[in-house]
Amino acid sequence: MPHGFHGRVLRVNLSTGEHDVLHLDEVWFRTYLGGWGLVAYVLLKEMPADCDPLGPQNTLIIAGGLMTGAPLGGAGRNIVGAKSPLTGGFGASEVGGFFGAELRRAGWDGIIVEGQSEHPVYLWIRDEHVELRDASHLWGRPTAEVDQALKQELDDARVRVCQIGPAGERLCLNACILNDVHHAAGRCGLGAVMGAKKLRAIAVRGTGQLSIADPAAIRKWARWQADLLAAGDPVIKLRYDYGTPGFLPILQSSGGLPTRNFREGVFEGAERIDGQHMAATILKGGGTCFACPVRCKRIVETHDAWHVQPAYGGPEYETIAAFGSLCGVDDLPAIAKANELCNANGLDTISTGAAIAWAMECFERGLLTAADTDGIPLRFGDAPAMIRMLEKIIRREGFGDILAQGAYRAAQIIGRGTSQYVLHVKQQEVPMHDPRIKFALNIGYATSPTGADHVHNLHDNAYQTPENIAGLRPLGIHRPLRYDDLSPAKMRMARRWITYRTFQNCLGICIFMSYSIDAQCDIVRALTGWNFSVHEMLEVGERVLAMARVFNARCGLGAADDAPPTRFFEPLENGPLAGSFIPPEAMRAALQTYYQMMGWDPDTGAPFPWKLHELDLGWLPEANPQ
Ligand code: SF4
Repeated sequence: MPHGFHGRVLRVNLSTGEHDVLHLDEVWFRTYLGGWGLVAYVLLKEMPADCDPLGPQNTLIIAGGLMTGAPLGGAGRNIVGAKSPLTGGFGASEVGGFFGAELRRAGWDGIIVEGQSEHPVYLWIRDEHVELRDASHLWGRPTAEVDQALKQELDDARVRVCQIGPAGERLCLNACILNDVHHAAGRCGLGAVMGAKKLRAIAVRGTGQLSIADPAAIRKWARWQADLLAAGDPVIKLRYDYGTPGFLPILQSSGGLPTRNFREGVFEGAERIDGQHMAATILKGGGTCFACPVRCKRIVETHDAWHVQPAYGGPEYETIAAFGSLCGVDDLPAIAKANELCNANGLDTISTGAAIAWAMECFERGLLTAADTDGIPLRFGDAPAMIRMLEKIIRREGFGDILAQGAYRAAQIIGRGTSQYVLHVKQQEVPMHDPRIKFALNIGYATSPTGADHVHNLHDNAYQTPENIAGLRPLGIHRPLRYDDLSPAKMRMARRWITYRTFQNCLGICIFMSYSIDAQCDIVRALTGWNFSVHEMLEVGERVLAMARVFNARCGLGAADDAPPTRFFEPLENGPLAGSFIPPEAMRAALQTYYQMMGWDPDTGAPFPWKLHELDLGWLPEANPQ
C-alpha cells in the first residue's frame, strides 16, 4: 500500500462519454510528485502541442499535489493545467479551497479531461462512482447558484464543486476555474478550455482518506502551524487579521504598489482600499481552505448601491490592486463588486483588472475614445465606468468583447500604438508586484513558462519570514539586502528559488505557510516514508520546470518570448522609488546568466539535451535529437 498518493488518475473523454484509470507508480510520484508534474507529464506525453487550445484535442488536467488533502495547514491546493488559450503554451494555475482535498478523499490523485461534449455536462464523482450528467439547466447561471443547485441535486451538502462561470462558457480568454465558488485558478485562461469542452462543473464527494506513512509527524507539523498563530507570529497574525490585503500598506510604503497601470508605485487612495480599512468597514468574516488555521480569506458584504453579496467571498490583495490602485480606484465597495462579478461569472481578477487599466491609460492618452469604448469614459479613478466595462467583458459585448480577449490581443486589434502600454509576458497580464522594487522578480516574470506569474516566482520580499530564510541558508540562499541586484550571485539565488517554487507547485502547498524548506522536506518524508532530501526536492522542481519549457518549445514559444514588459525599463513616476527603473542591458545580461545556469539554450529557450538527461528526462524526444 503506497503512502501519500493513490496511484490513480481518472481519465474522462467528453467526446465518447467513456472513462478509465491512468495508473502511476511510486517511481513516478517520486520523480514528478504531482501538481505541475502531472500537468507537464500529460501534456508532453499525450497531447499534440500544436492543437487548438479551445479544440477537442486540448487536455484539461486537474492535479492534486502530493500534499493535497493531507490533514495540515496549506494542504488544500490543487493545480489546473492545459495548453493555455491566453499564452499558447504551458498553462497551469493553482487554487485553494476544499475541492482538491475532497478529490483525494475520493481516491483520485487527479483528473484528465479529454475531448469535447456536444452539450453542457457536469462530471459527478463519488469515490469510485463516475458519471457524466446533463448540465443544460446550469448553463448561463452564476457560480453560487450552480454550487447550490448541485448540492441539492446530489442531495449532499458536503459535495465540493469546481466550475466555470458564464465567462468561461463564452470563452473569454481571461476566464478562470473556481473551487467552492470563490477560490480561483485564475491564470492562463483555463476557464475557456473547460468552457470549450462544455464541461460546466465537476462535483466530488469522497469518503476515504489518504494513507500517510507517519501520521504523528504530520500532526506535529499541523500543530506547529497552529501554535505559531497562537503565539502571535506577526506575519501569520497579519494574514489572519487582515488577509492578503493586509500587506498592501507594506507595498505602498515601499513604493511598489502598482498604480495607474504601473506608471506609479504609490497610490494616494491606498488607505481606503487596504485590508485594515476592509476590516473596519465591509468585512463580514474570514474564510479558509481545507485544514488551514490561518484563515486568510475574506468575506465581505455591502448594503450600499453596490450590494456586494458574501457568497462570493471578498477581494484578495491581487484583486484589490488590479481593480483598485492599478485603475486608480479608491472605492473599496466598488472593488468588492468587481470581485463579486468576477467570481460569479468566472473571470480572472488580475488579467481583467489589468486589461481595464490598460484601456484607461490608452483612453487618457487619447489613443482610445468614447467611440471605441461604447460611450464609457474609461478614465483612471472612475469606479462606475470600470464596473460597466467589466459587465461588458462578461457579456462579450462591444468593447468588452475586445477586452475579453486579454490586453495583448485587444491592443493588436486596436493598433494606434496601444501595444506599448500592455504589461504582459507571453500575452498574459502581469500580476500586482512591481519588479522595480525587487529586480530579480523580473527574471521570474520573463522566464516563467506560464507567462507573467506571481505564484511561480521569486519573492525576495521585505516580509519574507525569518523561518523560511533560515531554512534556505544551508543552500547558500540568503535574504537579499539589495533588491536592485541582477548580479550572477543573485541569478544563482533566483535559480534556486524558482526551482524551489516549482517543487511547491508539484507538492501543492500554499506558499503563504511558514514551513521552512527543511520542514517541507520532512512533510514529504512523513507523507510517503521516502528518505527524501532537499537536493531531491530541488531536482524535482528543476525537472518539472524543464518539462514545461520543453512543452513551450513544442508550442513555438522560445527565448524571444522571455521578454519582460518594457514599462519596467521606465522610471517609476512617484514615491520613495521615483526614478527607479530596471536597466535593459543589465536585464539582458542577467537573463543570459540565468539561462546558462539553468542549462537552457539561449537561442531556443529550451533545455539542452544534456540537461534533460541530467534530469532523468531522457525519454523525451528532445533529449535525443537526430
Ligand atoms: S493561508 Fe490562506 S490561502 Fe493559504 S491555505 Fe490558508 S486560508 Fe488558504
